[in-house]
Amino acid sequence: MRSSFYSIIVLNICIYIASGSVMAQNGKEKPSLYKANSALSTISESIEICKWKNDARTCINFSFDDNNHTHRKISQILDQYGYKGSFFEIASYMNIDSLKDISSRGHEIGNHTFTHADLKSNSIDSTEIDFEIRMSKELIENMLGIKCLSFSDPLHSYSPQSKKIVFKYHNFDRDYSEYFNHDFYELTSTSTINEVISFIENKINNREIILLSGHGIDGEGYESTTQSFLIQTLNLVKGYEQNNDLWVTTLKEGVLYENLYNELALEKEISEDTVYLHFKNFNKNKYRDTEKSSISVAVPYSVDVDLKCLTDSAEIKKFSDKYVITTDLKRDTSLILVIKSLGPTTDYSLNKSNTEFSVSPNPAIDFLNISGEQNITSVEIYDLKGQLILNQTNNNKKINVSSLKKGCYLLKIKQETGNVGYVTRIKFLKK
Ligand SMILES: [Zn+2]
Repeated sequence: MRSSFYSIIVLNICIYIASGSVMAQNGKEKPSLYKANSALSTISESIEICKWKNDARTCINFSFDDNNHTHRKISQILDQYGYKGSFFEIASYMNIDSLKDISSRGHEIGNHTFTHADLKSNSIDSTEIDFEIRMSKELIENMLGIKCLSFSDPLHSYSPQSKKIVFKYHNFDRDYSEYFNHDFYELTSTSTINEVISFIENKINNREIILLSGHGIDGEGYESTTQSFLIQTLNLVKGYEQNNDLWVTTLKEGVLYENLYNELALEKEISEDTVYLHFKNFNKNKYRDTEKSSISVAVPYSVDVDLKCLTDSAEIKKFSDKYVITTDLKRDTSLILVIKSLGPTTDYSLNKSNTEFSVSPNPAIDFLNISGEQNITSVEIYDLKGQLILNQTNNNKKINVSSLKKGCYLLKIKQETGNVGYVTRIKFLKK
């Protein structure tokens, strides 16, 4: 069901593109030179997966435990900053209406066991640990109608045995991941802003996840902090965020990114002016319950280079020294980047006299007809993962696409005039 659901989304997006709404005029890319592009291989070598989303220095999560009534108020304060927090609840006494409201505004609801059990205690066996974790998760999911992906250990207390059971039912734990133990700072009545600053700065320097956890505010919950201290902390965090030092997010998104950074490998392929980035080792099944699985890459920016991303699901952010491209691996495990040198070797005036090609019908069933007066040198068809599907090296403008599977494809039409080559890219849909 899931894969057909995504196919429908991809199909709809392809139709949208085929109708020309996203692409430049008449649904196709402008022709580009494919003369030697020396900048391309240098840039390609420098492309890396970012340590944290959008190439922030690190990630920060606010979490609050134990079903306190002030969780709703805290979530509303976070909303004023545009932040999403994580609320870890004890399933045997949940305030359903309040939690539904918190969850409906995009905050995370996580599992904090059924009765706030100490999972490291000698008086609890594996059957009881299993019950505490499983029963609580099931109740949270059934009562709130959500997926509960994260866990927090009551009293930050755990054992190798309890860890194993947590990962049987959950993807993420606040106190540790599959790769690291996580440090945290507790927002309590005795916290000081200087301690918070020093904790944050140390983590930014080490690029480690920052966990600020608490219980409630203004006298409610274990050693609660105050609303004014929370606001003071949020104002501090806003400053770091505006500097791209911090990415503020839920525990599930932060630790998912941390996991992906450890699990993925980036493979690069260069073909003329196009770089294909393939994210290897993405475990779709492991992350089947996450909404998105985002990953960012940083591409160095240079004034004499133009970059375009042909992957529809990707978001591009431009900084003074780099582009940061973020894609959802659940949609696409590859990124297609066209990188053109704007240096003196590129003569853009040539593009004006160059033939504009178009294709019909789009969507195509058996044949795709290329219209345009000039001769073509070759035609290549790629799928959206960058795999070459068809390669035809003649001037035949009627392409047999009957053997292609249904889906969206990239057509590259090449022509040569003298010593200069051009590539025209057109996306089409195979029905
Ligand atoms: Zn607790």
